[in-house]
Amino acid sequence: MNRPPENDLCSICHSHFTAPCQANCSHWFCGNCIMLVWRHGSTSQPCSCPLCRRPISLLVPTEETVDRIVLRDLESYNRLFGRGTASLLQMMQDLPFLLTETVACCMVGLLDDVFIALICFLHIAALYRSVLYRRHTGP
Ligand SMILES: [Zn+2]
Ligand SMILES: [Zn+2]
Repeated sequence: MNRPPENDLCSICHSHFTAPCQANCSHWFCGNCIMLVWRHGSTSQPCSCPLCRRPISLLVPTEETVDRIVLRDLESYNRLFGRGTASLLQMMQDLPFLLTETVACCMVGLLDDVFIALICFLHIAALYRSVLYRRHTGP
């Protein structure tokens, strides 16, 4: 569904949608209206949805939206707060997992080394003991 529900009105201007676009929180606004709300606050930060207060990171216009100015604004908004920010956040969220993964790998590697060293030690000890034994029982 890439268009606002029928008989729904823009919650910002309370009239029919012009150049409707859907925010990532699934609420619809006129492209112009949501851009006005955004510019009303700090443009260096994503605006929050006037309805549910969730930060808007994506604004998707309908296929029928042909208003070039609105489309350009939405595009720059999405570039600012859309995928780039999301992927960075995603990275931050993935980081602890990556770290534990790396630490786990190192631990396994370390254990491996210790294990090999232990086997070597036992082997050498066995050889040494057999040498001692031979010396004791030798002619
Ligand atoms: Zn509106
Ligand atoms: Zn919302």
